[in-house]
Amino acid sequence: MTIAANALYILAFILFIVGLSGLTGPSTAVRGNKLAGAGMIIAFVGTILKLVGKQLAHDGDYMISWVLIVCGLLVGTAIAVPLARMTKMTEMPQLVAMFNGLGGGTVGLIALTETMEYRGFRPDLIAEEAGVAGTSTILTATVIVGSVLAAIIGSISFWGSLVAFGKLQGIIPGRPLGLGKAQQVVNVGLLLLSIAFAIVLAFQVGNFGNVWWMLGIIIAASLLGLMVVLPIGGADMPVVISMLNAMTGLSAAAAGLAINNTAMIVAGMLVGASGSILTNLMAKAMNRSALNIVAGGFGGGGSGGAAAGNAEHGPVKSTSAADAAIQMAYANEVIVVPGYGMAVAQAQHAVKEMAALLAEKGVPVKYAIHPVAGRMPGHMNVLLAEAGIDYDAMKEMDEINGEFSRCDVALVIGANDVTNPAAKSDPNSPIYGMPVLNVADARSVIVSKRSMSSGYAGIDNSLFYLPQTNMLFGDAKDSVDEIVEELKSM
Ligand code: NDP
Repeated sequence: MTIAANALYILAFILFIVGLSGLTGPSTAVRGNKLAGAGMIIAFVGTILKLVGKQLAHDGDYMISWVLIVCGLLVGTAIAVPLARMTKMTEMPQLVAMFNGLGGGTVGLIALTETMEYRGFRPDLIAEEAGVAGTSTILTATVIVGSVLAAIIGSISFWGSLVAFGKLQGIIPGRPLGLGKAQQVVNVGLLLLSIAFAIVLAFQVGNFGNVWWMLGIIIAASLLGLMVVLPIGGADMPVVISMLNAMTGLSAAAAGLAINNTAMIVAGMLVGASGSILTNLMAKAMNRSALNIVAGGFGGGGSGGAAAGNAEHGPVKSTSAADAAIQMAYANEVIVVPGYGMAVAQAQHAVKEMAALLAEKGVPVKYAIHPVAGRMPGHMNVLLAEAGIDYDAMKEMDEINGEFSRCDVALVIGANDVTNPAAKSDPNSPIYGMPVLNVADARSVIVSKRSMSSGYAGIDNSLFYLPQTNMLFGDAKDSVDEIVEELKSM
């Protein structure tokens, strides 16, 4: 049974790795996700086989364990499948934050039960469980270090993800909520406190009642998770979500060490490593360092709407779908800049139809993709791919930014923060330093959105007040549908 279980684990690892590599491109992502999911089911079967094998070998009573695991799987599936199906695409980031947080919370609970089971990490009980004669220092140290790391990282990830969920869902204000200058002192204090509890716990090997030290670690790390994410606002949230995801992976790997489960170690390390790479890439795309974001609590203010025009910038000009259609039909090239509003309006299919009509008139259409447009990494690629738009027409920020100055019309559809020139020109802006799309360089800019409301970062956008910008007010799908009708009649 154990050999069969280990063979299944190896198969699962291969599927995890192949699945992850599938996630590197939109055309292979769905297949990659399915393969990694299949790997998880196989790892689950492997774990059950292991327990049944031990039961058959009369090596303890594992009946309750595997029945509990199967029940957990059924209850989890019954909740997660309908929840994921019912969740709208625009609410997916919140769901991911919630699932991620639950992973971290589970790991924290595993650490707690490990401490309870060994009543303070008794080396004799740990060795007995592992089938080793006498005691083993390495084994005991592995269980202690694994449990302590799992408790610290898992608790930070759980509470941090809950705050991220609250911010994305609008339950908690998106603006930075912090203690100002005292924030960093408090954060460092909480980290040192959880490490101190961990050291005390480690040196109390063999004592009873150490569960209290473990609870101390969990409480200090939980407060740290809240304190780190609450001050992070607006535009920096994508990096934080990715970082929390990586932390959940690392905490799962640590828990795998504690309970001697290879599948958890490998899967956790894969999530931790890939999440760390993604965090680094996203931080680079925002021109920040990940440490900078966590320590500094960057980000914008509230999400209140601005009036139609403002004292500093003056009034804005609005246009109609008919005028927009005429401008685009006679352009040398049109660059579409999609953002979160396109996802809300589900305008991607109408956009594809519009691009096809422009192509018939000899006007090439390209799509400028900002790395944090929308509410999750790759959000725009997924939507455009879903509408059947050619991957070659989707251009990453660095590739397209030089082209705006050569194009006649940039059509911004529900994008806001990722086009804000203040990120380059206003050192006082909360998004200063974040690379943005050079939409302002286009000869003419049409912005499709419903009002003058701000985007996720909660700040005004000077693009809307430029002489070459015209606002096309209304729901993005309705506006693009109208443009399509106008193009058809031309
Ligand atoms: P923004 O959030 O900056 O702006 C979206 C705009 O869409 C709003 O100004 C809104 O204006 C408009 N809008 C909403 N609904 C509609 C509709 N039905 N029709 C037309 N327009 C609509 O989006 P961006 O994509 O430009 O930027 C993403 C922001 O989200 C960045 O600040 C990023 O940091 C943050 N973020 C990104 C994540 C990621 O991983 N990609 C994760 C978490 C946050 P109005 O109400 O006037 O219509």
